[in-house]
Amino acid sequence: MSRTPIIAGNWKLHMNPEQTTEFVDAVKDKLPDPSKVESLICAPAVDLDALRKAAKGSNLHIGAENCYFEDEGAYTGETSPKVLKEMGMDYVIIGHSERRGYFHETDEDINKKAKAIFANGLKPIICCGESLETREANKQEDWVVAQIKAALDGLTAEQVSSLVIAYEPIWAIGTGKTASSDQAEEMCKTIRETVKDLYNEETAENVRIQYGGSVKPANVKELMSKPDIDGGLVGGASLKPESFLELVNYQD
Ligand code: PGA
Repeated sequence: MSRTPIIAGNWKLHMNPEQTTEFVDAVKDKLPDPSKVESLICAPAVDLDALRKAAKGSNLHIGAENCYFEDEGAYTGETSPKVLKEMGMDYVIIGHSERRGYFHETDEDINKKAKAIFANGLKPIICCGESLETREANKQEDWVVAQIKAALDGLTAEQVSSLVIAYEPIWAIGTGKTASSDQAEEMCKTIRETVKDLYNEETAENVRIQYGGSVKPANVKELMSKPDIDGGLVGGASLKPESFLELVNYQD
């Protein structure tokens, strides 16, 4: 298996440009070799210039937490994928449950954003995941499979091979309640099988699937030991340099 693990911080609405520079200065010389583990920070739009400057020449990959699906126009307050590329970003998170919930982002928007991200030479991290209610009704697989099918609609096998999917059960986000490694593996495996059904075996083998939801230094190794979990999308535990370094260096 040749998938390179990817551990990503999702800072959400935390950190200012000054804190961003301090954070990157504290971690940049202690990151793993990117051929072993890819380290990524996705930051608020207002921090991205500081992030790019601080990360320059280091092994840190950088990304945004959201973007719009148009490159430019009369869209007050939006962030352009074209400009994110010009700013040197590598990735953009889309479809996070907080964006779906608070900002009414739909499956259709997420699909359009994925296409716009690829059109600009960036890579999406596409989030999916069920609510507690859906899990309690034992409908989580149908829910997540439908989200994946909608998000990938019209993308080529080559594009899907290069993107990242993050499975984040909503009940595990910021709650301290991690899905068990078996629950996380089960869904990541289902997602991989869905990609195989939609595309082919090779694409399914290439696509990287992260688990997200209360990932922390204490559980990262166990989660990463699972065959279909290729990384973590980490909120709270990515905000402190020490904790982020423990996460990305989980193999040591
Ligand atoms: P958490 O957030 O690690 O704080 O649970 C994860 C996420 O929402 O991406």
